[in-house]
Amino acid sequence: MFKEDCLFCKIVAGTIPCNKVYEDEQILAFHDIAPAAPVHVLIIPKKHIDSMNEVTAEDLPLISEIHRVAIELAKQLGIAESGYRLINNCGPDSGQAVQHLHYHLLGGGKLGALTG
Ligand code: IMP
Repeated sequence: MFKEDCLFCKIVAGTIPCNKVYEDEQILAFHDIAPAAPVHVLIIPKKHIDSMNEVTAEDLPLISEIHRVAIELAKQLGIAESGYRLINNCGPDSGQAVQHLHYHLLGGGKLGALTG
């Protein structure tokens, strides 16, 4: 549930501050510290999950809730109509830097083309 050496677990616990935009029992969302777009929010489960690879069938309602929160935040942050991206990085090739499942909600301006 809580991983000692995990940055986002510390943010969930409140020992590292964040600029919070949403919180409920299971989910926390906060502004990214190094925004890659005018709106750049991270949506995370409070429960520690290393990456998408560790998501189990039991976690699927939680993943669904994260999508619900992303839609709600897109409306709240004024990017629902102009458009946005919801991105998950999983594993070394994706550049995942924080080993706690998180989704980037990006918008507020024309986004660059996806590369792969
Ligand atoms: P990743 O590359 O998908 O793992 O994304 C990690 C994200 O966490 C990056 O966009 C970082 O800018 C962001 N980040 C790292 N530390 C903090 C923090 O303390 N607060 C908010 N965002 C952070």
